[in-house]
Amino acid sequence: MIPVPAVPPAPPADAAAIERVRRWIDAASKVTVLTGAGISTESGIPDFRGPQGVWTTNPKAEKLSDIRYYVADPEVRRLAWQSRLAHPAWTAQPNRGHRALATLETRGKLHALITQNIDGLHQKAGNTPGRVIEVHGTVLFVACLDCDWRGPMERVAARLHAGEADPPCSECGGILKSDTISFGQSLKPGVIERAMRCAQECDLMLAVGSTLQVYPVASVVPLSKRFDAKLVIVNAQPTPFDDIADAVIAGSIGEVLPAICGA
Ligand code: NAD
Ligand code: ZN
Repeated sequence: MIPVPAVPPAPPADAAAIERVRRWIDAASKVTVLTGAGISTESGIPDFRGPQGVWTTNPKAEKLSDIRYYVADPEVRRLAWQSRLAHPAWTAQPNRGHRALATLETRGKLHALITQNIDGLHQKAGNTPGRVIEVHGTVLFVACLDCDWRGPMERVAARLHAGEADPPCSECGGILKSDTISFGQSLKPGVIERAMRCAQECDLMLAVGSTLQVYPVASVVPLSKRFDAKLVIVNAQPTPFDDIADAVIAGSIGEVLPAICGA
């Protein structure tokens, strides 16, 4: 088991800002949400760049997320599969933040939920899979880097448990990898285009738990603003887009989202 670091303490949220944003969301009809790793820390899944983040505490872990090392080095693949088997997503449960976004959909206000997360917790919380745009893929599936094969992680997990350290594709013998986008790997064009479109179509963009440093997905934030949406950022740390936001709330996501989403 990977030890789960404590959730970083978030500063107290600004009650007046919460009330203002709650009214904006009440009045909005098409909210597009962008979530990052910060929404899942309260479910026990560490983020990358927060104070207790995986890369902050162990810079070498970054290698496991880089496609160049993954393809070149069987030892990196062996370690990456071990870390997939131990991934907290298998047992994690959605928290109050995820559930508040499910409520936003029940209220008929959610246009799209763009997520950088790969943990499947938005769907587990009740958001319709068709509304969740997983720009960085999912750990729940595995894909072959050399052919079209894609299948559930359980199939590969069974092979790992049976003793294969780096199972090859059963169709073509190629390299398998969790169906996530590693650094150095291209995004799926249809997926990121859909995210950009949903950023242009919304009347309110809610960016939650992301440092907004990973591109191209971070660009949905300024894009929505250029298309006249209100921009609300909920994150414990500052982001590069705080100064163009209509509201920035620096409290704990699990407390702030239920309050602003009417959950
Ligand atoms: P990040 O790690 O760069 O940043 C997360 C941000 O959330 C930090 O600024 C942190 O201060 C804030 N935060 C953490 N917990 C919070 C809380 N409870 N309340 C308020 N703020 C909180 O995350 P990122 O920008 O999403 O980028 C990391 C990339 O790594 C993503 O693109 C994603 O693909 C991947 N990732 C995914 C998961 C996951 O699926 N849960 C976990 C780690 C990394
Ligand atoms: Zn293959």
